[in-house]
Amino acid sequence: MTVEERRNALVNRLVERENIGERTEAALRTVPRHEFVPPSRTSDAYRDRPLPIGQSQTISAPHMVAVMTDILGLSPGDRVLEIGTGCGYHAAVTAEVVGSEHVYSVEYHEALAERAQSTLAETGYGEVSVRCGDGKQGWEANAPFDVIYLTCAASEFPAPLVEQLRDGGVILGPLGDDVQILTEGRTVDGSLQRESHGRVRFVPLK
Ligand code: SAH
Repeated sequence: MTVEERRNALVNRLVERENIGERTEAALRTVPRHEFVPPSRTSDAYRDRPLPIGQSQTISAPHMVAVMTDILGLSPGDRVLEIGTGCGYHAAVTAEVVGSEHVYSVEYHEALAERAQSTLAETGYGEVSVRCGDGKQGWEANAPFDVIYLTCAASEFPAPLVEQLRDGGVILGPLGDDVQILTEGRTVDGSLQRESHGRVRFVPLK
């Protein structure tokens, strides 16, 4: 099987199992996940599982990227901040939906940030902005964002992130220490209304 066939087979299985929106499905069929995983892991790129990417970090499983993209209900032109670039795969899926120039991503580890930036450029998502730094501070210079999501677990949404959300914007991420719950927050008249989307397992926010 070619990589395209393996990618389509994976997405077919995901679409059968989960209720995946059309835009998300199209993005998953397009982004070459095998280009984002370490070379030694290429053969596992189209299995639905997280994989190690160095620095004790992991690329999320494809179904988790799909679920998060769907919950966020991303539309073309949405301005998005991602906390935890990792290898850049999730950022590329987001960019496929909203447009690369609208995606900002902060990564704590310099080696990962640099590698993600170059992989994004090589795969056609070079306009995604990646910065190395502490994601808890967000990216003030580019605020406000329509959407902010975290790919690492915090005990609570960091206050600067909520402040950098536009009114009516949505923030999504795993909250909790031992037990993590994928939590969605929407700003309504300045306060955050929450909805839970079940138990998840992510690496911790540093
Ligand atoms: N979205 C990624 C998944 C990355 S795993 C992908 O598609 O590959 C979570 C990432 O969050 C790790 O790379 C980790 O280094 C990063 N991270 C942890 N704490 C952070 C912080 N305080 N600020 C920014 N990134 C952080």
